[in-house]
Amino acid sequence: MLDADVLPESICNRNHFQVKTGILCTRIIYKNEHHATHEGYKPWLYITMLNTLDNRSYPNMAHGTQQNFPPNDNTTGLVYDPIFLEHTKSTHPENRERLVSILDGLDEFHLQERLIPVRARPAEEHELLLVHTQHQIRRVQSLSREGGGYFDPDTYATASSYDAAVRAAGGLIDLTLSVIRGELHNGFALVRPPGHHALPDRPMGFCIFNNVAIAAQAALDREGLSRIVIIDFDVHHGNGTQAIFEQDPRVLYVSSHQYPHYPGTGAVTETGTGEGAGTILNMPLPAGCGDGALMRVYSEIAFPLVRQFRPELILVSAGYDGHWKDPLAQLSFTLKGINTLVERLVALADELCEGRIVFTLEGGYDLAVLKLAAANTFFALLHEDEVHDPLGAPGIPEPDVSNVVAQLITLHNLA
Ligand SMILES: [Zn+2]
Repeated sequence: MLDADVLPESICNRNHFQVKTGILCTRIIYKNEHHATHEGYKPWLYITMLNTLDNRSYPNMAHGTQQNFPPNDNTTGLVYDPIFLEHTKSTHPENRERLVSILDGLDEFHLQERLIPVRARPAEEHELLLVHTQHQIRRVQSLSREGGGYFDPDTYATASSYDAAVRAAGGLIDLTLSVIRGELHNGFALVRPPGHHALPDRPMGFCIFNNVAIAAQAALDREGLSRIVIIDFDVHHGNGTQAIFEQDPRVLYVSSHQYPHYPGTGAVTETGTGEGAGTILNMPLPAGCGDGALMRVYSEIAFPLVRQFRPELILVSAGYDGHWKDPLAQLSFTLKGINTLVERLVALADELCEGRIVFTLEGGYDLAVLKLAAANTFFALLHEDEVHDPLGAPGIPEPDVSNVVAQLITLHNLA
């Protein structure tokens, strides 16, 4: 048996495990709470085991971290921490059950044991300050310390929300930096609260700190990157991310979203300002748009623009609320359609930036959709074709988006 403390909480809390010793010591038997067992090979754990069990020479391998993990083209990182379940209100659509459903999917499809856990450490204050004001950080701290409350009618805090929010940001930073450094091939941060509506000086739209913006800023500042693309396919426009980078020529922000819809921003004409002119691409979709419109705007507009930009890293704000079953919006994507986009984004990263792509969870409020869509995304990150879509399509005709496409071609000089 191996001490439980060499495993990250994300694994320990959900699985009991045993390790076979001897020559098969790299094989691990997992036992989940339903007493189902399955075997897996976890290279990160293997190295930790070597350190722990026979003290071989991996001198820089810190206990319980994956920082010096050797590069491997097939390694996909996963950020998760149980603290993300404690930021919750049962009557609010953005509640813990969203993440519980996704974790159930990882168990059901035996995905968790194939992923490399990345610890969700708390972001340092100087990292939050890359994007947010000190006033906002103090406001989140004090509302949590008081036991919780509301920042606005949509956006709540509990006593655990500050801890959850700083770990969401810290986990995504470390996953992103690990991918940039080649320690991991790609990854997905299953974090809550989400981030893309959060503005520099205020939480908004269920979001407290803007996780993807903080990770992008850390990558620019700490790793010296000069061109990052952020793709945001959440059904809502990521007004926070746009506001943070609209003057920054180093970040191309691409959003597809229902329009008009919450939060009201995201018109085609919002294309960036000052030195950032041309580095915001908004692809607004009228209610009722489905997979056809989604593929069309990405194929004809977003992908050519991303190729021109030549990113060194692609970050993805993954919101699954564009699905036809989602209760908070009126687009009609299917699980298959969303997954086709995800696969093409992974392929684009392979083509343009040695596969460096990092997903972070934003919205999505139908639990069955979340479970399957997130599992499908992990299969895509693992370069596997497995796609689950038992929900099918709504079978209603889509609006024509030719006008939007024509406008975008002109505005972004793609003709
Ligand atoms: Zn959303």
